[in-house]
Amino acid sequence: MARCYNFCAGPAAMPEAVLRQAKEELMDWRGRGLSVMEMSHRSDEMVSIATEAEADFRELLGISDDYAVLFLQGGASSQFAAIPLNLAEENSVVDYVNTGQWSKKAIKEASRYAKVNVAASSEDTNFTTIPAFDSWQLSDNAAYLHYTPNETIGGVEYFWTPESRAPLVADMSSTILSRPIDVDKFGLIYAGAQKNIGPAGLTIVVVRKDLLGKARAITPTMLNYQTAAENDSMYNTPPTMAWYLSGLVFKWLKAQGGLQSMEVINRRKAEKLYAYIDGSGFYSNPVEVASRSLMNIPFVLADAKLDKAFLQGADDAGLLNLKGHRSVGGMRASVYNAVPEEAVDALIDYMKDFARENG
Ligand SMILES: *Cc1c(COP(=O)(O)O)cnc(C)c1O
Repeated sequence: MARCYNFCAGPAAMPEAVLRQAKEELMDWRGRGLSVMEMSHRSDEMVSIATEAEADFRELLGISDDYAVLFLQGGASSQFAAIPLNLAEENSVVDYVNTGQWSKKAIKEASRYAKVNVAASSEDTNFTTIPAFDSWQLSDNAAYLHYTPNETIGGVEYFWTPESRAPLVADMSSTILSRPIDVDKFGLIYAGAQKNIGPAGLTIVVVRKDLLGKARAITPTMLNYQTAAENDSMYNTPPTMAWYLSGLVFKWLKAQGGLQSMEVINRRKAEKLYAYIDGSGFYSNPVEVASRSLMNIPFVLADAKLDKAFLQGADDAGLLNLKGHRSVGGMRASVYNAVPEEAVDALIDYMKDFARENG
């Protein structure tokens, strides 16, 4: 069986070593005679899997006891509502920064539950830049400041952290675990698992404990962070299999040397691809150089009429899921932790051949 290189934005590539281990343990988890997906979530086995995954995740990101780590469902999209419901009153002002499609969705949903102030927007550059921090119109009394450190669709990433008196809330769905971060700067971090953590079905929320217990009375129980925290994310049946597989990914990341090592590899992968794109005279990336994403790299061909042939040829070469998001067009290579450097090399080789034949 030949595995292809998968550049999907999400659900995304998994580390091959993790898939192998999962296969090994699928029928009989460590001699217990059953699969993880058949275990009671309250069994000693599943609780040990869950606890170990949380400990490894905390170790990777350096998360202190001041924070709760919640293993939830509903995707990052559910958090768009959960955040204002848990952290703001109906008449509270909440600050949002609009840097792309995911910011926009977060803003739209939050507007149903609080008074959103869009503190800054890069819509005027078609979301190819990040507004300079000194231009942000922050509110004096905001319940929190929300931003999107990596815009998965536009391929725009912050390499700095906003300063804010209000708790800083970050949608890290497509950047979490790609490099070290200083968790203490944040009030809340959230991420759908299916980009850089593990399989779809799991959403992780890291929330400072002093922000718990403030949910509005109307907040659905399943969206209330305090309920999840008090019940170790097992108020109801959690996504056990996704939790287990994510735990294997955390072990794999530790074996790679942790997030410092991942940053070195991720920078090398991204720099190679950007350097080739910029020098090619055939492909281009529209994002300002200082804000180019390490994880999601959109690019267009010199002639959009060649897109179809490019994608077909890529598929034939075992390079999958390179089609860009419909709102941006062109191509997008998502090069998360689990996408090896050889995949990027193979992509560049293919791009060179295609440009030579069609340029
Ligand atoms: C994918 C993505 C989402 C949506 O995630 P779901 O888990 O599908 O709800 C939100 N924000 C960002 C930045 C994303 O990349």
